[in-house]
Amino acid sequence: IKTIDLQKTFRTEEIETLALHNVNIEVNDGEFIAVMGPSGCGKSTLLNILGLLDNPTRGSYYLNGIDVSKFSEVQRTKLRKGMIGFVFQNFNLIEELNVYENIELPLLYMGISAIERKQKIEQAMDRMAISHRKKHFPQQLSGGQQQRVAIARAVVTRPKLILADEPTGNLDSKNGTEVMALLSELNKEGTTIIMVTHSQHDAEYASRIVNLFDGEIVTEIEM
Ligand code: ADP
Ligand code: ADP
Repeated sequence: IKTIDLQKTFRTEEIETLALHNVNIEVNDGEFIAVMGPSGCGKSTLLNILGLLDNPTRGSYYLNGIDVSKFSEVQRTKLRKGMIGFVFQNFNLIEELNVYENIELPLLYMGISAIERKQKIEQAMDRMAISHRKKHFPQQLSGGQQQRVAIARAVVTRPKLILADEPTGNLDSKNGTEVMALLSELNKEGTTIIMVTHSQHDAEYASRIVNLFDGEIVTEIEM
């Protein structure tokens, strides 16, 4: 990942917000980055652009050597599939689908065969210690269990990059530590992780902390 003078402005009626201002960031394969900074400083905006959910207003974004900053939504979706996994603060599970079906979704989008899907889902559920709840629906699970399902869904396609937006924000410290241990393990196996967090404790799992303020990177600390 490499960005050059990344800028993002949001325009709503008369108000224009400069959410990101000349962000230059480079992330190598296998790094674990924690993005920190006060509320409203642009963390989620940066994560959304790096995750190909949104385009910058100006600047370049090189992903695997390709400038994707002007990609259309269709191109972004195609590139994102199977390569990037997302984990959110509020888990973002589909309430109408059970655990198994939630984890199955990205594989369905990728057109993976039923036999292969079953094998991959069972492996991801085992890994996240959630197999005993496969028929449960999200509302029947504790917060920690829901986040483990969300991580299983994020890793079931074996993505090279995981983007996590405050993954422990809705968890107690025990479940939070468990989720961080799982992310750390995935990172040790080679998955690149970029995580937004407010927690100094979570940031200690990272290899580098990037501090944002008013849409700009103000400091970077190697751990
Ligand atoms: P953080 O994640 O650090 O809390 P955000 O990236 O969510 O910050 O927001 C950065 C700035 O951009 C804020 O001022 C926010 O109000 C603004 N912003 C974010 N998304 C939008 C949007 N869709 N429309 C208008 N303004 C937005
Ligand atoms: P926590 O102690 O993490 O808050 P809970 O008390 O929410 O956990 O849940 C304890 C166990 O009960 C969990 O394994 C969860 O799957 C199960 N559980 C909770 N609510 C329901 C429900 N409505 N239906 C079925 N199982 C449930």
